[in-house]
Amino acid sequence: MKPYTHEPFTNFNDEMNKKAFQDALAYVQSQLGKEYPVIIGGQEITTEEKITSINPANKEEIIGRVSMADQELAEKAMQAALTAFESWKKWRPEHRANILFRAAAMLRRRKHEFSAYLVKEAGKPWKEADADTAEAIDFLEFYARQMLRIKDGFPVNSRDGEYNQYHYIPLGVGIIISPFNFPLAIMAGTTVAAIVTGNTVLLKPANSTPVVAAKFVELMKEAGLPDGVLNFVPGSGSKIGDYLVDHPKTRFISFTGSREVGCRINERAAKINPGQIWIKRVIAEMGGKDTVVVDKDADLDLAAASIVYSAFGFSGQKCSAGSRAVVHQDVYEEVLEKAVALTKTLTVGNPEDADTYMGPVIDEKAFNKIMSYIEIGKQEGRLMTGGEGDDSKGYFIQPTIFADVDEKARIMQEEIFGPVLAFCKARDFDHMMEIANNTEYGLTGALISNNREHIERAREEFHVGNLYFNRGCTGAIVGYQPFGGFNMSGTDSKAGGPDYLLLHMQAKTTSEML
Ligand code: GLU
Repeated sequence: MKPYTHEPFTNFNDEMNKKAFQDALAYVQSQLGKEYPVIIGGQEITTEEKITSINPANKEEIIGRVSMADQELAEKAMQAALTAFESWKKWRPEHRANILFRAAAMLRRRKHEFSAYLVKEAGKPWKEADADTAEAIDFLEFYARQMLRIKDGFPVNSRDGEYNQYHYIPLGVGIIISPFNFPLAIMAGTTVAAIVTGNTVLLKPANSTPVVAAKFVELMKEAGLPDGVLNFVPGSGSKIGDYLVDHPKTRFISFTGSREVGCRINERAAKINPGQIWIKRVIAEMGGKDTVVVDKDADLDLAAASIVYSAFGFSGQKCSAGSRAVVHQDVYEEVLEKAVALTKTLTVGNPEDADTYMGPVIDEKAFNKIMSYIEIGKQEGRLMTGGEGDDSKGYFIQPTIFADVDEKARIMQEEIFGPVLAFCKARDFDHMMEIANNTEYGLTGALISNNREHIERAREEFHVGNLYFNRGCTGAIVGYQPFGGFNMSGTDSKAGGPDYLLLHMQAKTTSEML
């Protein structure tokens, strides 16, 4: 087997690729408005109550209608997953991995189609959509290979006359709750990590992006996944999310989303309910308030480009987004000026157009929240560019920069999850590190510097799960930069890392006297 390398990104300057992507968009356009069922034990169930998924760039356009599971269906799905677990856990790990390899190949063949759904349903510009699909392929390839590496466990010592073994077995039924911002990659990654390790799951996708999840569930079935292993239960968090988190048969929860919901899940999961005979495991990837730090001895063009890309890629809707720029006082004005100039060149508009840099934000709630932070920003800093939103057709917000923001200000501390960037001036390197570490989060960060001593100090002192030097702080690649953060950013789990699958398993020791 070829060694793992990540899926290459598509070069859209190539006319053939551009044409292929436009064709995919046209194809997806012809598929809009379809209905998608709940799927339990392979059975398709259409319900009265539906999520209407809309295009955030064009509120009138319906992407699809997706049936919602209620508590009764959630219970049915739990029973189906419990039944399927009994046989799935006995599958040879290689055979489970083969399904992921096949799914990766199938997704690769339909790459632009899936990306086109991401453009339509999540408002991702082409480049971001392409990266999301590439990451989903990577998760399939990478976790399948990881399973082959860990399937026999790890060697342990044996004394004379004794034979000891140490290997991993699956946990049981997992609840996968996935986010809107990587509606394909994170949804697929968290789902298949749980599945390849021998667990069965109930997948509850984000309510703003359920169609791309439904397409992925279809693909996994086509790739040969047996019924009942992946149950698709779109629904409301308060109605079925809590129910499933509380369920005594739930063995683990894999959640990606807001800090608020992640903490709520963690708290509820800690309670032992009647009939429950284990402590639930929670894997949570939550928020971030991530910083790009610029040293006085740095390439200032690189600094400005890194700041802008980290802040405004996918409209800042990444938990890895660099929403804070902390810049040494000696170069502060120059970096600010360059970043503002660069930001003014960014195009905001319909993500279906090849040259759009930034599309809309995901929905009305996000739009209102971000706009209210822009109002707060006006009190806390100097508005340099942007500051405006327009929700008449879709949920568009201009990339916004505030300068001279105090290190403790709200827009320096609270996750906004939108295209809002705060600039903060630092006295010296000590001060930079102090500000970089002054939030409750600890997900990503970047240092732009040519000072070796400062790079080495930051390596130790900058307390984030993913730290980058002389580049932006978004865009971790599966298998290359395992992704996940410290403190309130989550449970210190690393998606796309060598130890991620083990979080979905438990180790068993056997010792035989010979
Ligand atoms: N893995 C993504 C990155 O490195 C971010 C994931 C997220 O926002 O949840 O940019």
